Amino acid sequence: MTIHTLDAPTASALLEWYDRHHRDLPWRVSPPMAKRGIKADPYRVWLSEVMLQQTTVQAVKPYFANFLMKWPTVTDLAKAPGEEVMAAWAGLGYYARARNLKKCAEAVASQHGGIFPDTEEGLKALPGIGDYTAAAVAAIAFNRQAAVMDGNVERVISRLYAIATPLPAGKPLMRQKVALLTPADRPGDFAQAMMDLGATICTPKRPACSLCPFNGSCEALRLHDPEQFPVKAAKKEKPVRRGAAFVAVTSDGDILLRRRIESGLLGGMTEIPTTAWTARQDGETSTEAAPFNADWQSSGTVTHVFTHFELRLSIFRAAIADRVQINDGWWEPVTNLEAQALPTIMKKAIAAAIPLAFKTAKG
Ligand code: SF4
Repeated sequence: MTIHTLDAPTASALLEWYDRHHRDLPWRVSPPMAKRGIKADPYRVWLSEVMLQQTTVQAVKPYFANFLMKWPTVTDLAKAPGEEVMAAWAGLGYYARARNLKKCAEAVASQHGGIFPDTEEGLKALPGIGDYTAAAVAAIAFNRQAAVMDGNVERVISRLYAIATPLPAGKPLMRQKVALLTPADRPGDFAQAMMDLGATICTPKRPACSLCPFNGSCEALRLHDPEQFPVKAAKKEKPVRRGAAFVAVTSDGDILLRRRIESGLLGGMTEIPTTAWTARQDGETSTEAAPFNADWQSSGTVTHVFTHFELRLSIFRAAIADRVQINDGWWEPVTNLEAQALPTIMKKAIAAAIPLAFKTAKG
């Protein structure tokens, strides 16, 4: 029997791929540029990394160009009026980041003579620079052997080693693997190559494994299921509450409605009579809680997801000859339901009992 073994992944395989297939980006010193002796500008690397944290390469390009035109160096940015920086940032979102960007530029200008510190530790001491940005700038701008891990890198590394621990718990192991794979020679290109591979080949859906430089060493590919990685922690299920709701309709086509109390969930809105919504398994979900005696027939269950719980309402319908005198509520023509302040859950409940009550209600 032949046992199929994988080759160990190597940085050199990835770097060879990067030399041929790297993306050309305005802030990047590509391998041909590096050969011509062009060095990465830490200001550009830092600026692009901060901008890229919230949006795509395509969206960042015009902002990056505009910033560089207005403020070609970190010292220029440090001197810029705060409002101008915020205005240039507008549209990128996360405005706290723009404020930190300005603070960081000021710190580099005033405390470091306009020159970025060249170590991860030194960079991390600056305002607004976290683990990721410090590692990325240290590797890309200063060729430090720093383990750089963004979402793209997480995907590649989790597939390469078939890391089954869900995110975020799996991160430390992923970072360890990235650190082991990051070479002393060309660590910045390695980091950028991992990002490019994740963005163009090892994509979330249908990765192009046949074109991947790691395809002889990838555990997830060997398992024939790259897409299952990275494993995400199952979302915590919301608690379930249950109740019953009652749709009473007269032969004239009137429906019994009432108003919810002002305070609390859906306060002041219109509803059909309903029980309390409780988390107990024995929550009132039967006709015992109906507003009056009638031949209540089940119309199924509707569910609705609120922010903090999922509601499952058992719906009962009664067709009655005439209006019943009720202290708490009123009778409304079904044809007039659209004009009522009925929340979605109530529309769903009514639609379960009277399918054509709302053209737009979803079950
Ligand atoms: S072989 Fe496929 S799954 Fe594995 S790293 Fe390459 S693209 Fe991703």
